[in-house]
Amino acid sequence: MPYNKITDNVLAAIKSIVGDDAVITQLSSLEKYSHDETEDLHYYPEVVAKPKSAEEVSALMRLCNEHLIPVTPRGAGTGLSGGALPVMGGLLIAMERFNKILAIDEQNLQATVEPGVVTEEFMDAVAGKGLLYPVDPASKGSCFIGGNVSHGSGGPRVVKYGTIREYILNLEVVLPSGEIIWTGANTLKYASGYNLTQLMIGSEGTLGIITKIVVKLIPRPTLDALMLGSFSSNEAACEAVSAIFRAGIIPSALEFMERRGVEWVIEHDGINFDLKDGIEAFLLIEVDGNNQDVIFADCEKINQVLEAFNCKEVLFADTSAKKEELWRIRRTMAVSVKSNSIYKEEDTVVPRASLPQLIKGIKETGLKYGFESVCYGHAGDGNLHVNIIKGKMSDDDWNNRLKEGISEIFELTVSLGGTLSGEHGIGLVQKGFMPIKYQPAHFELWRGIKQVFDKNGILNPGKIF
Ligand SMILES: Cc1cc2nc3c(=O)[nH]c(=O)nc-3n(C[C@H](O)[C@H](O)[C@H](O)COP(=O)(O)OP(=O)(O)OC[C@H]3O[C@@H](n4cnc5c(N)ncnc54)[C@H](O)[C@@H]3O)c2cc1C
Repeated sequence: MPYNKITDNVLAAIKSIVGDDAVITQLSSLEKYSHDETEDLHYYPEVVAKPKSAEEVSALMRLCNEHLIPVTPRGAGTGLSGGALPVMGGLLIAMERFNKILAIDEQNLQATVEPGVVTEEFMDAVAGKGLLYPVDPASKGSCFIGGNVSHGSGGPRVVKYGTIREYILNLEVVLPSGEIIWTGANTLKYASGYNLTQLMIGSEGTLGIITKIVVKLIPRPTLDALMLGSFSSNEAACEAVSAIFRAGIIPSALEFMERRGVEWVIEHDGINFDLKDGIEAFLLIEVDGNNQDVIFADCEKINQVLEAFNCKEVLFADTSAKKEELWRIRRTMAVSVKSNSIYKEEDTVVPRASLPQLIKGIKETGLKYGFESVCYGHAGDGNLHVNIIKGKMSDDDWNNRLKEGISEIFELTVSLGGTLSGEHGIGLVQKGFMPIKYQPAHFELWRGIKQVFDKNGILNPGKIF
């Protein structure tokens, strides 16, 4: 698709829509918008605009559609698949001024929120009213809820409560034509034609720009318990994961962490944690509810399951400070890995009973291609983040041969019944691997959908497929 550059006239029109103060053109200020948290990639937009209403977004979209200028929506830029990178230049629409919680409806257990609200701020606001919004990505303190919707995000607690797909009732969306629509209704049930709300979730900013979000809330459980199981092998830890569910328990979090990741957290974050010899992997397990006896009984049952898988030690966090310390290890792992080495992060997901084969295969692939990997993630969902560490790999192996190794990991994932991404999206960096999982018929359907929404292909070009 031949796109046009932003001319002085178009720039003047952008300024008249959002105001001079909400437009960035200086190279030094554009730098912040040239990258997200995906490895070391930089693509500069020509101009950044920061609208504050759906009407302003609509006017920008009409302008860019008329002049064939590529548009990339951006949330907080914490994405790990390059979705917010303006690979074709053009206009970047930064959603940071859409930062208001518009309503918390305690009668219906719903909230209406703008997409630029930081996820944790929203979680805290509803918690203050005794309610729970459980979609808690490890990046919750920095990412936006609109980015979460666009990526179909998850987090530790979705194992019990479901991903963001379960919590979005309705969306206000600006289409590439500039038209403003609501995708559905503010109802808990929906059987009224093709579900545009679900189509928008996970569409990675390629079909429309989300400007309002209606979210379902649930009552907040009052109690929880947290335990950490230590294992002498990755596979034993992964085998215990599905056994916990088979024992009749659905934990509110079930996270896997490899020893190397914990070592780096201790080094990077100065966390006081006694890492014993012979321990290779950990399961961080949380149970929640409203009845202390039931929670104790569940913990006891989990303990028995862990013992059956040769768990070396189970640590119970008996104070909220201890709980916070254990969660900090898991939450800071991504940042610690990143600060230790150049890395690539894959977001494999398989049916959870296949996790032991997945981790075994990842390690074998690492030996074959000469890379170290640090794995952690939402094991209860079968979702393993594979951090491939550059370490001593030559630049040539890293830039060229590694692709074969990553392809092998994805081939294994797919052969186990899984797919390329559980929650980070495909964006820019995974799209080359999509044919490993998907057939020409999938691509034809996706292109057809894209064409209906975005006739001129101006919205977030170069992503997903
Ligand atoms: C340390 C760390 C931990 C993480 N942990 C998790 C985790 O546990 N679970 C998880 O799911 N992810 C996790 N992530 C990934 C990331 O935080 C999520 O993908 C998050 O949803 C991205 O939100 P964002 O606001 O930063 O979006 P961005 O990165 O800015 O954008 C993401 C995508 O959404 C599109 N987009 C953004 N806003 C809009 C909008 N209003 N309308 C239309 N499209 C839009 C963009 O074009 C892009 O394609 C983690 C990232 C880091 C760095």
